[in-house]
Amino acid sequence: MELRVVSNVAVGFDNIDVAAATRRGILVTNTPGILDETTADLAFALLLSAARRVAEGDRLVRRGEFREWSVHMLLGEDVFGRTLGLCGCGRIGQAVARRAAGFSMRVLYTARHRLHGPTEQQMGLTYVDKETLLRESDFVSLHLPLTPETRHYITERELALMKPTAYLINTARGPVIDEPALVEALKTSRIAGAGLDVFEDEPRLHPGLMGLDNVVLTPHIGSASRQTRTRMALVAAENLIAALLGKRPPNLVNPEAFDRRDAR
Ligand code: NAP
Repeated sequence: MELRVVSNVAVGFDNIDVAAATRRGILVTNTPGILDETTADLAFALLLSAARRVAEGDRLVRRGEFREWSVHMLLGEDVFGRTLGLCGCGRIGQAVARRAAGFSMRVLYTARHRLHGPTEQQMGLTYVDKETLLRESDFVSLHLPLTPETRHYITERELALMKPTAYLINTARGPVIDEPALVEALKTSRIAGAGLDVFEDEPRLHPGLMGLDNVVLTPHIGSASRQTRTRMALVAAENLIAALLGKRPPNLVNPEAFDRRDAR
């Protein structure tokens, strides 16, 4: 039977060969805009957890090693008032920026295009180049799609530009980071820590990550709240039904495929 539509239950569609689908007139749809706040919550949860050593503290308590309060135990880093650098400042990046405002953070961002002046002003965002962002941020959070351009956006070179006290947060896609380079940077304390929801070869974990205490790991649960996953399922179903009825789906990734069908 002829495949007519691929309805992705996600905003990212790097798991689909869109060009091949388009050539065959197969529609590809996604679920943008309804998972921004939930994914931003997780990015912030990873940021807070890494900075304040929440997961490490949890492990310590479970091992029975919390014997007495100590003035030096599990010292972390402040989040409020620090500098957050957003690589990619679209829907999710901006949702993270809104959270950062509540922590009185200075927020830098970088992307290929600058946002409109009023948006920057209203959200307190400062546009900088990638190098400046990496050098000046206490927390670098990735919110880019995975494309041929953004694969290995963070390598040894970028990690070397970051402050040794800085943290890297990734809720975008694993291959945006050169993972072996990150493991090395975490092992050698080249950077202070990381929070990762996505992995280069997920669900396989780089063996070097397992033993590191300065990284917080979650299993690609950025959009995994009951409310948001329900909305995503409904939107994916709406996209699918529209496509099967011959209508233009609301969230069409490859309009060329739809136009080609029309032309047939
Ligand atoms: P979006 O609204 O399209 O924003 C993407 C941002 O990345 C834009 O600011 C864009 O700006 C920038 N960008 C794109 N290509 C770039 C490049 N080559 N260099 C620099 N900046 C670039 O996307 P979104 O909805 O925020 O989602 C972002 C990604 O998050 C998704 O693609 C998905 O992979 C991931 N995600 C993960 C989870 C999870 O479960 N962990 C959940 C949801 C989404 P310019 O176009 O101006 O460059």
